[in-house]
Amino acid sequence: MADQPPVIYLDNNATTKVDPAVLEAMLPYFGELYGNPSSMHSFGGQVGRTLATARQQVASLIGATAEEIVFTSCGTESDSTAILAALQAFPEKRHIVTTRVEHPAVKHLCEHLDRLTGHKHRVTKLPVDRDGLLDLEQYEAALNDDTAVVSVMWANNETGVLFPVEEMAKIAKSRGVLFHTDAVQAVGKIPINMAESAIDLLSISGHKLHAPKGVGALYVRKGAPFAPLIIGGHQEKGRRGGTENVTSIIGLGQACELAAARLEEENSRVRQLRDKLEEGLLSQIPNAILNGHKEQRLPNTTNISFEYVEGESILLHLDQYGICASSGSACTSGSLEPSHVLRAMGVPFTAAHGSVRLSLSVFNTEEEIDYVIAKMPGIIAKLREMSPFWQSSHQGSVGGTGCRCECS
Ligand SMILES: *Cc1c(COP(=O)(O)O)cnc(C)c1O
Repeated sequence: MADQPPVIYLDNNATTKVDPAVLEAMLPYFGELYGNPSSMHSFGGQVGRTLATARQQVASLIGATAEEIVFTSCGTESDSTAILAALQAFPEKRHIVTTRVEHPAVKHLCEHLDRLTGHKHRVTKLPVDRDGLLDLEQYEAALNDDTAVVSVMWANNETGVLFPVEEMAKIAKSRGVLFHTDAVQAVGKIPINMAESAIDLLSISGHKLHAPKGVGALYVRKGAPFAPLIIGGHQEKGRRGGTENVTSIIGLGQACELAAARLEEENSRVRQLRDKLEEGLLSQIPNAILNGHKEQRLPNTTNISFEYVEGESILLHLDQYGICASSGSACTSGSLEPSHVLRAMGVPFTAAHGSVRLSLSVFNTEEEIDYVIAKMPGIIAKLREMSPFWQSSHQGSVGGTGCRCECS
């Protein structure tokens, strides 16, 4: 740790720092308190009681009851469990409604189901507009008698755009369709109250809210049909086999309690920092465009396209200053493919490639934000000097050959 250079971490939608209080709560369970929560003896029993506390802490954050919380290994497992359980509940129904901008945990599962079952499962992916918003009339029209489940994310991980899932769940309910939401990015950032919601299934991931990686939870509405994904022992009331990841679950519980106490700060101080960062960049840098609806959005996320530069080049330059961010294009495979989210929003080619996502947390400071605002204009100007696309569009001459990107 000693020679780790200081890092300005603005990639909190990818993962978050484990809060020191979370780590502290976990440590005894790596040491002396190693009992199995299912054991009959009191040595295991005390672990079982802490597990029950953690379940209550998770439930409280989202206005649920403890018995509606099933612990899983990650957000991805929660998503898979929810969608597969809903399909099992209605074996005669073959239709899934989702969106074009889901996280791969939902997107790839739906595509896999479609292929695996020889297209017996039909998947409708709802489009979004230029702001990343859904059309509710289109949603209603997509539901039919064959629809088993709707899976729509609460908050988009790339843009932070929020979908009206509570309203959408009510519509699904009136049509007898189960409603799942991937709320991995929403939990801890916006108020959620399942007691007043029609949502049947909701996914949570620990490492997006200052708990460790490799733990998640699935909310299952009391009385909703359910089938386990992992079949084995009687853990989680038979809803998820396997001895519980006790330490991480205790960490998740602690993180949820902290998140509940910090909701206010997330929506005031963190939001103000995000807005300052966003305005600082948009006002100083020409040809910079905000991706995603300005208001209907998480308080911590901004996604900005800097036209005529590569997002990955921006990231490498930011990295030299110790600034961690992420980009909406992945050129690791050699072919530059802009994100499916930005493509679904119809972000033009020249802008989609130059997108950068900056996502904050309660650990960020104003000094850090000022530093990024000071460094970014120079980085973009330098990259544009080298960009043939920028040269040709702004100086009338094409300098150099540049790279030709092939995008579908
Ligand atoms: C991170 C993330 C997931 C996956 O969670 P893991 O715990 O990493 O499996 C799912 N959905 C969204 C929206 C996410 O941001």
